[in-house]
Amino acid sequence: MRKYVIMGVQGSGKGTQAALLAGDLDLVHISVGDIFRWHVKNHTKLGAQVRRAVAAGELVGDELVEQVVRDRLQQHDWNYGFVIDGFPRNRRQAEFFLESYDIDGVIHLDLPDEEVWRRVLARRLCSRCGMDYNLIAHRPEVEGRCDVCGGELVTREDDTPDALAARLRDYHDKTDPVLELFRGKEYVATIDARADKTAVQQAIRDRLGLPPYVPAQPS
Ligand code: AMP
Repeated sequence: MRKYVIMGVQGSGKGTQAALLAGDLDLVHISVGDIFRWHVKNHTKLGAQVRRAVAAGELVGDELVEQVVRDRLQQHDWNYGFVIDGFPRNRRQAEFFLESYDIDGVIHLDLPDEEVWRRVLARRLCSRCGMDYNLIAHRPEVEGRCDVCGGELVTREDDTPDALAARLRDYHDKTDPVLELFRGKEYVATIDARADKTAVQQAIRDRLGLPPYVPAQPS
């Protein structure tokens, strides 16, 4: 059983790296942001409660976040463990988490703010299948269309300059202290997230003592 937390500022590749790690090691990838986006898209009661905060790039209230994390982890579909992404984002959430779960490692993807701006404002998402694109590093073959399903590519509602500024501010004010807390208690692997996604995944594996990453060959 392996339990990891992946942390990093917006655009540092948390979702991508968590998915690569989880897929290979049979871990469940839990993205709190994805859970909230699902609820907003599907107009659930929770979606209505978090919609405004998510769109503005502001943090959702701790009680709601903790309830979502608790419910998700109580599903116990994670026989081999999990990688949780986007949580904890502040000290209270970290303390709540550490009370219930012991963690095998914290992966910290480190990216300078200038690079965050460059990456996030170039990010696009398929409105149909959710595939991620980036107009700098991963352009679609046909402009504005998903290579996989042909769906329309859109900008995430919170990838605007105002929302990004709010998220960066929150990250430095509230999430940086969480790293300090983890550094005192858990194993934190800080990885330079400027490299390409394969190199970053490899570095994560090396630092956590996991089997090497073998990228899938195109068929
Ligand atoms: P993310 O995809 O991780 O950037 O999360 C998208 C949005 O979901 C954030 O901007 C917040 O509004 C909300 N959110 C996700 N995780 C948390 C969390 N741990 N605490 C508070 N709000 C969160």
